[in-house]
Amino acid sequence: MVDASHLPRLSFSFGPYHRDGSGEPSLNFRSETMDKKKLEAFKKRLETRQQDLRRTVSRTQADGRSADEDTAQDIADRAASSYTKEFLFSQSNNERLLLQMVERALARIREGSFGECIHCGKEINAKRLEAVPWTRHCIECQEKLEQGLLEEAPR
Ligand SMILES: [Zn+2]
Repeated sequence: MVDASHLPRLSFSFGPYHRDGSGEPSLNFRSETMDKKKLEAFKKRLETRQQDLRRTVSRTQADGRSADEDTAQDIADRAASSYTKEFLFSQSNNERLLLQMVERALARIREGSFGECIHCGKEINAKRLEAVPWTRHCIECQEKLEQGLLEEAPR
């Protein structure tokens, strides 16, 4: 006679293997399959951003020139003017960098590699891409990059 109370209670431990009944494996599609509409929307956003940045970059360049022309009379003015120039310079530098990243993202859309981490090739999280469409790294690689643990060079 078998005493059932000694059998391991496994009947409820199938949780991790439970199927939802759809029979669809939850595959992580790579960005080749990113849907065209989505890609087109990213492209539009990036192009708008590109145009804005181009305008801003050329405007700050013009501002920089006019700050140069206002030849300061005394030292305080000169300091202020050089501060303004420096500020404008760093600002336009940031914008130039961003413009470069936006342009590279557009190039990746054309090449069909948009949405992939340039370092590990994994798909970049959709929310991250949504927030920063010109990002080139997945969150893991971005963190490593910021900690100096990753070479900037692509694969
Ligand atoms: Zn990565």
